[in-house]
Amino acid sequence: MRKNKWIAIDGDAGSGKSTVGRLFADRIQFEFIDSGLLYRAFAYTVLKECAGKSDKEEWVDVIQNIEFDLKGGIICIDGKDVNKTELRKKEVDDLVSPVSTVKEIREIVTEKLRKIADSKNVVMAGRDIGSVVLKNAFLKIYLTGPVEVRAKRRYKELLERTVNITFEEVLDGLKNRDVIDSNRDISPLTIPHDAYVIDTNYLSPGQVVDKIIQFFKGREYVL
Ligand code: C5P
Repeated sequence: MRKNKWIAIDGDAGSGKSTVGRLFADRIQFEFIDSGLLYRAFAYTVLKECAGKSDKEEWVDVIQNIEFDLKGGIICIDGKDVNKTELRKKEVDDLVSPVSTVKEIREIVTEKLRKIADSKNVVMAGRDIGSVVLKNAFLKIYLTGPVEVRAKRRYKELLERTVNITFEEVLDGLKNRDVIDSNRDISPLTIPHDAYVIDTNYLSPGQVVDKIIQFFKGREYVL
């Protein structure tokens, strides 16, 4: 029987999955994996290599021919670390959801994520972690909140990283990604039937983590 524990944190764009997931993983001393970083790194690669072309076969070809790794929250492509600020830029934001709809690309990411989680305790954040990647997760959380609140949060974060963008661009970007992510054919964003849903509106990251800790302890008591 599998002894390691997997915690899946899924949710809408900008719902706080990475911030909360990282804090929660620190509290319980699990490794934190942000699966969105892999999709962002692939979108970034497509942007550089395919010069704006939307030929999905070419995207797959490019992705299949790169070496990549995700260790300690750092993405490495063909031996080079990719700067996280680059991965949060508007051009990447705009392309990441279309890139994530491609079956072959999702298969590559899913296989990698499962390999990383194998025989480890992990907290993994994403869109399809509880529904597809780690279906047997010990605990599943789904974070949500009003899109304007999520956009304000993301906007503040981007300003701190000195990314040049307006609030309206962030808001439109989040809305757009939510629509594409929820309506794609493969592994759409969905609330797993066995997930605990937390509305992060009016809650600080610490308060959300406290709630997750309660659910975690509850599961440990039951199982
Ligand atoms: O989590 P983050 O906002 O960085 O994710 C960027 C994009 O990557 C999402 O909007 C979604 O299109 C894609 N994604 C996904 N499945 C995951 C994680 C991210 O499709 N597990």
